[in-house]
Amino acid sequence: DTVERTEILIIGAGPAGSVAAAMLRKQGRQVLMLERQQFPRFSIGESLLPQSMEYIEQAGLLQDVVQAGFQYKNGAAFVRGERSTEFDFREKFSPGWGTTYQVQRADFDNVLARGAERMGTTLRFGDEVLSVQPGRPARVQVRRPDGSEYTIEAGFILDASGFARLLPRLLNLESPSNFPVRGAIFCHVRDHIPADAGFDRNKILITTHPEHVDVWYWTIPFSNGCCSLGVVAEPSFFEKYSGTDLYKLQAIVGEDPNLTRLLRNAEWAVLPVRTITGYSANVSSLWGEGYALLGNAGEFLDPVFSSGVTIAFKSAQLASDCLAREHAGETVDWEANFAIPLRAGVKTFRRFVEAWYAGGFQKIIYHPEQQPDVRRMISSILAGYAWDTKNPYVADDSGRRLRVLEELCTG
Ligand code: FAD
Repeated sequence: DTVERTEILIIGAGPAGSVAAAMLRKQGRQVLMLERQQFPRFSIGESLLPQSMEYIEQAGLLQDVVQAGFQYKNGAAFVRGERSTEFDFREKFSPGWGTTYQVQRADFDNVLARGAERMGTTLRFGDEVLSVQPGRPARVQVRRPDGSEYTIEAGFILDASGFARLLPRLLNLESPSNFPVRGAIFCHVRDHIPADAGFDRNKILITTHPEHVDVWYWTIPFSNGCCSLGVVAEPSFFEKYSGTDLYKLQAIVGEDPNLTRLLRNAEWAVLPVRTITGYSANVSSLWGEGYALLGNAGEFLDPVFSSGVTIAFKSAQLASDCLAREHAGETVDWEANFAIPLRAGVKTFRRFVEAWYAGGFQKIIYHPEQQPDVRRMISSILAGYAWDTKNPYVADDSGRRLRVLEELCTG
C-alpha cells in the first residue's frame, strides 16, 4: 500500500477544523481534512458570539455564513424569577463585531466545511483517524467507510476532533477539569412564542432555575420558528426526575413560570431529545512535536456563556499563524505563541463561569444600579472579547476586580 503525503492534516471538520483549513488554504498550504461522520450532522453549540465573526471573516468564510440565512443575534437576556436583564452586544467596550448568529450546527458546520473545500482543502467524509504516531512527519492510520485502511504521512497535525478528543486520549494528555461534572438535556422545539410575549428572538435567553442558582436553561431561537431548549445541572439534580428524557426536560422547564408561559404552545422534540454529561475537559499540553490541539480537543470549560465555538476559532487562528511563521522559516515556540495566548482568554471565561455558578455574577447583572462603563466591559466578555487586555476585567488576571464588583452588588 502506498503512503499518502500531506503538508497539513486536520482531524475533524467541526468549526475548529474548517476555519483552520480555510486559513491555511489562504496561505496556500496543502490541507487534508478528514471527518468520520457524514454531513450534515447534529452538533450542540448553537449560539455564536460576535468575536467569532472576526475569525470567520479572516478565514474568508463570511459570505458563506451570511448567505446561509441564520438567526441574527445581538445580545443575551437573563431571567431569574421576577428579575431580568439584557445585554446588547453592540454596546460593548471592545471594538469589533457586535452581532452574530444562532445556528443549527448541522447546517453551519456544513457551510464552513464546504467553504474550506471550495478554497482547496481536500475533504473526506466517513474517513476516521484510528491512530497517530506523532513526529515530523507524523504517521496516521485511517479507516474508510468500507472498512479498508490507509496510511498518511503528515507534516503537521491539527487535532480538531472535538469531544472525541483523539490525540489527548491516544497520547495520554488528558487532565482533569476543575469544574464539577454537569450534564445537559436538550432538544429543538417549534416554539410558537407569540410576538407580544416579551421574547426577543435576537437574543439568547438564559434562565436561572427559580430555586437552584447553579441550574440554568438555554433558549436559543433559530430563523425557522424553532428554538434550541436545554437545561444544565449536576447529575444529582437530574436523578430526582424519572421517565423519558423528554419528560424530564418538560418537568424541569415546568418549574420556571416564565419559560412555561413562553412555551405554552410549543411543539416539543422537533429533533430527538439528547443528553450529554461530563463535557468539561482539559489537557496537560495543547501541543507537541508536529501537532496542536484545537477547540474541544483541547480545553472545554462550560456552555453557560456560549464561548465554545469562539475558543475553537481562536485556537484555529493562533495555530494557523504559528504554521505560517514556521513555513517562513522561523522557529516557533508553540507554548509562547499558541498555548499561552489561547489559555489567556479561556482563563477570562473561566473566572466568569466560576462566578456564574457561585451566584456572584448573577448578583452583578441583576443589580439595579450599574455603572454604564462597567456594563459595557461585561458586555464585551459576554460578546466573546475575552482576549482584549484593554478591558480591565480581562487584564485583571487575579479576578480581584470581579470580586470587588460582586461585593459592591451584594446585599
Ligand atoms: P466538534 O464541533 O465537536 O467537531 C469535531 C469533529 O471531529 C466532529 O464532526 C467529529 O465527527 C470529528 N471527529 C472526531 N473524531 C474523529 C476521528 N477520529 N477522525 C475523523 N473525524 C473525527 N458553544 C458555543 O459556541 N455556543 C453554544 O451555545 C454552546 N452550547 C453548548 C452546550 C452544551 C451543553 C455543550 C456541551 C457545549 C456547548 N458549546 C457551545 C460548545 C461547542 O459544542 C463546542 O465548543 C464546539 O462544537 C467545538 O468545536 P470543535 O470544532 O472543537 O469540535
